[in-house]
Amino acid sequence: MAKDFVEKITSMDDDFAQWYTDVVTKAELIDYSSVRGCMIMRPYGFAIWENIKNALDSKIKETGHENVYMPLFIPESLLQKEKDHIQGFAPEVAWVTHGGEEELTERLCVRPTSEVLFGEHYKNIIHSYRDLPKLYNQWANVVRWEKTTRPFLRTLEFLWQEGHTCHETDEEAHDETVRMLNVYASLCEDVLAVPVVKGQKTEKEKFAGAKYTYTIESLMHDGKALQAGTSHHLGDGFAKALGIEFTNREGQLQHVQQTSWGFTTRIIGAMIMVHGDDRGLFIPPKIAPTQVMIVPIAQHKEGVLDFAHDLKNRLSDVVRTGIDASDKMPGWKFNEYEMKGIPLRLEVGPRDIGNKQVVLVRRDTGEKLTVLINELEIKIKETLTAIQNDMYQRAAKSREKKTAKALNLSEFKEILDTDQGFIKAMWCGGEACEDRIKEETGATSRCMPFEQEELSEECVCCGKRSKHLVYWAKAY
Ligand SMILES: [Zn+2]
Repeated sequence: MAKDFVEKITSMDDDFAQWYTDVVTKAELIDYSSVRGCMIMRPYGFAIWENIKNALDSKIKETGHENVYMPLFIPESLLQKEKDHIQGFAPEVAWVTHGGEEELTERLCVRPTSEVLFGEHYKNIIHSYRDLPKLYNQWANVVRWEKTTRPFLRTLEFLWQEGHTCHETDEEAHDETVRMLNVYASLCEDVLAVPVVKGQKTEKEKFAGAKYTYTIESLMHDGKALQAGTSHHLGDGFAKALGIEFTNREGQLQHVQQTSWGFTTRIIGAMIMVHGDDRGLFIPPKIAPTQVMIVPIAQHKEGVLDFAHDLKNRLSDVVRTGIDASDKMPGWKFNEYEMKGIPLRLEVGPRDIGNKQVVLVRRDTGEKLTVLINELEIKIKETLTAIQNDMYQRAAKSREKKTAKALNLSEFKEILDTDQGFIKAMWCGGEACEDRIKEETGATSRCMPFEQEELSEECVCCGKRSKHLVYWAKAY
């Protein structure tokens, strides 16, 4: 039975998409619902989200933001107010047309994002420079009617936080845009062990209605990129469209400068595809709902279960500890909790109890550590820290291996054909080249990294004078 369990997960190299589906369903993160593209987050999947949410929420509050809650619906006339914004979102908006049996006089959109709702509110509560800055965040669900969907990565309804801020000056809004991008980057790297590239989106790829968009881009095991979070400087475009004005320090009426930034449940998809392997999920210790799983050995023997339960109580003060005292075979349990990505397993049997020791087994290396009971807390903490750091290092190495440079389009294509990943290449800044690269290779511009290099003076596509280094990739 134990073996049977593992065999059901498709190998990553055979079929990565099927591997992903196997992991999210068999590790009990999600179930499919009767609405296409909407998923049920099961307790284990939701617990992961809650841990990510808590970590991010503290960072959002530490940087001076307050949480609020906005309505789910946006009247059509309000959504229409910012032209670029509505154009960008119109193809994927869901509309409510009826209330009960009655047709509404105005359609209501189910929020795809809440810039205009925040804008309408800010117009009412901001009057003077003394009312600024306004630093709001909301945790909510949003709906985007996507054509193709995949659990976590692209779903019709998803969970996220969206920050919306108002400032006196362009510079303050810029600083805020950078600050929140750094918050996202630190969450990804320090908590999720997912390395990211920080940079700016091109005009074509920026948020609809923004002055510019900053992004963090991550690379998955299969060499495809995933946008992990974005932070937008909105300038005063929304403020002008919605009439958000304040009296400045000189007594003049002025529009506010705004930002917005968002981080979603798709990060769970990234975590799965960066750290997972053929045995299943692998969750970084900092967000693992269970960090240590106790598996009693020969638990029918006298004293073993009592001892294991005592250990659980004792360890629960220090780490998130689980115990499986069911009558399933230890081998089944080992496979099950490896598949669920629990970072550390603790085995304890009659002989261990006699020797006042237990065995710790790392999910990543399989390394077994015999640890004396009186050193257990310290050793567990040390090992979890080591696992967390090693996960980051492995991911960083893998990304480095999958990052290549291209000087012309044929090199570009050759790289994509042989070893997919990030391609660093120079770009002239023209949208025509961006379009051509996408059309001919399927890769899109991911970002112009903040750390620029000059690989050559020529655009990888047209050969004209290059302006920026760009990270390109096929992407989720
Ligand atoms: Zn070009």
